[in-house]
Formats: sequence, structure tokens, C-alpha cells
Amino acid sequence: MTRIAFIGLGNMGGGMAANQAKAGREVMAFDLSPAALDKAAAAGCGKAASVAEAVQSADAVITMLPAGPHVRQVYAEQILPNAPTSALLIDCSTIDVESARAVAAQANAGGFRFADAPVSGGTAAAEAGTLAFMVGCDEADFPAVEDAIKPMSRVTFRAGDHGAGQAAKICNNMVLGISMIGVCEALALAEKLGLDPAKFHEISSQSSGQCWSLTSYCPWPGPVPTAPSNRGYEGGFATAMMLKDLKLAQEAAAKAGAATPLGASAEGLYALFDRLGGGGKDFSAILEMLRGRSVQPG
Ligand code: NAD
Repeated sequence: MTRIAFIGLGNMGGGMAANQAKAGREVMAFDLSPAALDKAAAAGCGKAASVAEAVQSADAVITMLPAGPHVRQVYAEQILPNAPTSALLIDCSTIDVESARAVAAQANAGGFRFADAPVSGGTAAAEAGTLAFMVGCDEADFPAVEDAIKPMSRVTFRAGDHGAGQAAKICNNMVLGISMIGVCEALALAEKLGLDPAKFHEISSQSSGQCWSLTSYCPWPGPVPTAPSNRGYEGGFATAMMLKDLKLAQEAAAKAGAATPLGASAEGLYALFDRLGGGGKDFSAILEMLRGRSVQPG
């Protein structure tokens, strides 16, 4: 697995492509943004003039694009007609399960192997090569997928067949969105009851309220120094991104006939926070809205 085509060099893809080059692989990169492409070139990637040129002699093609429609279009119009059928195709974007399965079916029909492999970890993990990958692919293809993504990953799971990676990702982020709101509501209530929120953090972290949103990513400034709450909720995982993932979860739930009332509430609350100007802030900043404070746009 030495020749990698990397398509989509944004906040996530830029760091991921750089780690492929750092691992000694020959990376041919492409992005619609010339600035993103220049940055990837400075990190050791080759510059392609188009998707078609990037993929033409690739062992593996990795895509990191904004959403389902971009992935459907780039695969149908540019990757499948131009890549060798021996190339392993891996889409790391977060998209809807239906699009992932449709692209997989199209790729398989053209004689390609395909995996949906969305990630958890954010831009810092993308740069550090410590992302968690959730993969949906044929069982026989998983070792090759693991090998292709190794320079970018801390841990890789095969969630199941095509689409299962995306299903795991949106279910995980629905838990995260709901649990963050629960933690924020409890902290806001603790404050109103005259209980020091930092003391509440200490107690609940060792009681049954313990969860990742509280102990590793505390939305109240202070108790967890690395959390975005200590830097004005800048950086981290943007509210707009969380909202996108919660919408994907709701669309999937509606299609599958699953009851997700707390997921729906979380989507509504994040949509409100986004409308109030919080879209660019880390998603833990929803604490400010729940405390009744004015939202500083970010
Ligand atoms: P981004 O907008 O920074 O990057 C996307 C890149 O794709 C852009 O540089 C854009 O120019 C490029 N692009 C769009 N259409 C293209 C095309 N037709 N051909 C070539 N390039 C094209 O987004 P991001 O933050 O890097 O996120 C990428 C994906 O990863 C999304 O699906 C997102 O949901 C997911 N994700 C993001 C994070 C995060 O913290 N940012 C975390 C986990 C997963």
C-alpha cells in the first residue's frame, strides 16, 4: 500500500494526508481549494491537477469530503471512471448511511473494494495520527483497510458491512450530543442551587453521573484544563458539526422507524444554539445558552 490518492484536504483531510506522507507513502493529493493543496504539498504530498489525475495509479483512494452529496458525486463522476479497479476505496467523511451503501454498491458493481470509515477524534487527532476509525466493509477487505489507514489511526474497528461504519459514527455522536446537554443542564442547576459546579464535577465524576462529557471534556471552565471551556470554547468540535451529525441520526432514525426522542431534543437544542450564533463554538458552549447567558458568536 504505497501509492495513496487523497481527496479533500480540509481541516481533517490536511492532517490525515500529511501523516500518510510522513509514513513514507507516495501521496497524490487533490482539493478544490488551491490553498489546501499548497498546504498538503508543503507537508510532503504530491499535487494533482484533478481527482482523475490523483487516482489514476493509486493503490488506495482516501476521501475526506464535507457531506453525502459531495461523496456521491466525486465517486460517480471522478473516482470510479478513473481509478484502477485494483485500488482500495476508503471514504472517511461523515455521511448518511444510505449514501455510504449506494456508493459501496456502485463501487462493487464496477469491480472495486470499498469501505466507509468515518472517524472520531477531531482536528488535533487528525494531525497527531490518533483518530479512531469505524469501518463498514466486507470482512475479507478489513486487513487491507487497516493497513491503508494505519498512519492516521490510534484504533480501528470493523463495525460490520457497508454502512455500518457510518451507523456507528452517528449513534456514537448522538450519545455524545445528548450526554453533553445532560451534563450542562446539571451544571447549570448546581449553580442555581448554590452548589459549586467544580465541586459537583468532582463528586459526579466518581458517582453514577460519570461520563466522558463530564470527566474528559467538562463544559464548565476549570476542572478539565484541556477542555475547550478553558479557551472560550474555541477549537474542538464545532456546534455546526455536532448539529450535522444529529441531523444524520434523526434522518436515519426516521427511515429505520427507531424512536430517538432525546436525539430529537438534542438536535432541536443545538439548532437553537446555532441560530443564536454558537455554530462556530465548540459544542460544549451550549452550557452558556442553558445558563441563560448571551451567546458570543464564534
Ligand atoms: P472541511 O470543509 O474543512 O474540508 C472538506 C474539504 O473538501 C475542503 O477543503 C473542500 O475544498 C474539499 N472538497 C469539497 N468538494 C470537493 C471536491 N469535489 N473535490 C475535491 N475536494 C473537495 O471539512 P472537515 O472538517 O475536514 O470535515 C471533513 C469530514 O470529516 C466531514 O464529513 C466531517 O463531518 C467529518 N469530521 C469532521 C471532524 C472535525 O472535527 N472537523 C471530526 C470528525 C469527522
